[in-house]
Amino acid sequence: PKTEPQSFRQFADISVRLASPERLQPKPEVKALQFGKQFSDHMLKIEYHARAGGWQQPIICPLEYLSLHPAAKVLHYAVELFEGMKAYRGRDGVIRIFRPELNMLRMNMSALRTGLPGFDSEELIKCISRLISIDSEWVPHSEAASLYIRPTLIGTEPALGVTEPESALLYVILCPVGPYFGTKGSNSVSLLADPSFVRAWPGGVGDKKVGSNYGPTILLSKTATRQGFHQVLWLYGEDHQITEAGTMNIFIFIINDQGERELITSPLNGLILPGITRQSIIEMTKEWGQFQVTERVMTMPELRSLSREGRVLEVFGAGTACIVSPVSSIHYSGEMIQIPTLDQPSPVYSRILQTLLAIQYGHIEHPWARRI
Ligand code: PMP
Repeated sequence: PKTEPQSFRQFADISVRLASPERLQPKPEVKALQFGKQFSDHMLKIEYHARAGGWQQPIICPLEYLSLHPAAKVLHYAVELFEGMKAYRGRDGVIRIFRPELNMLRMNMSALRTGLPGFDSEELIKCISRLISIDSEWVPHSEAASLYIRPTLIGTEPALGVTEPESALLYVILCPVGPYFGTKGSNSVSLLADPSFVRAWPGGVGDKKVGSNYGPTILLSKTATRQGFHQVLWLYGEDHQITEAGTMNIFIFIINDQGERELITSPLNGLILPGITRQSIIEMTKEWGQFQVTERVMTMPELRSLSREGRVLEVFGAGTACIVSPVSSIHYSGEMIQIPTLDQPSPVYSRILQTLLAIQYGHIEHPWARRI
């Protein structure tokens, strides 16, 4: 008989099996880092079995291949979700993670939508912190780099029915990473806004961090890159609503109809991922109180006419990988809309970036940066 799944097993139960010294990998130099291609020595694994009491003992072990039955649901129906967060080594040597409770909350929301089991956020943060402290030398000794944390949850039950998996695996791997967009040319990005490229729709899962949202975007991103653009600006609907850019939320800084400066970002209407960087920027800039901060839909025709009137000051993307990334142009409907983000005397994107970096690298003590 099926027993009720237990809540997440205690961090206190964790078992640790360390890699033998000769198996430890050399740590790459910061300039040799490539996003998501180099991995630390250890991983965290926690199995879930509905018929065996739910969550099993958390295990830290040397990074290893997974062994899955060919019928595992993740391989057929993409019963899968993930998170992306970072650990930063401060000038003071302390390692901090940025608002991990928000990643855990989002991860639980993705799990609920995918039929995967939920878990206790604080217990998982403790397990992840333990993993990072074991691989702490993998957190780069550099403020141009950080350690990317990839929690993943997959449905492993070997059964072909499209139903909730009875078994699952939660695992966490770590990658040292440098600046996301590399160093070629300027650090601003160009976007392709093609209304035929659709990432998310009402009632769908665009607001969840599930693998099935990302695979289908690869061809479209490649199309944009081939045409010379860095990223896709995802639009939605007949009126070409701006939703997000690549894997970043988007911010548009304008002069509004009242002649005031206003920072606008897409609302959480199910079409965008609720980014933790986005939320932090909204909270931070509202606290500054120096301009309006608004969550509302903006369409491409509106952005184009604001741009023609010289009222678009800045556009930038925001996300864990890049933190903040200025946009220099948007190609839309046969026209290249130039965005003067880099031409502003004291751009707001740069102030936001510097403030977030100062929190993440511990230059200022802030409750958003949690010591591991
Ligand atoms: N949108 C999408 C589609 C993303 O994949 C990400 C990266 N997680 C973001 C926005 C930014 O979210 P966050 O600030 O939490 O990294």
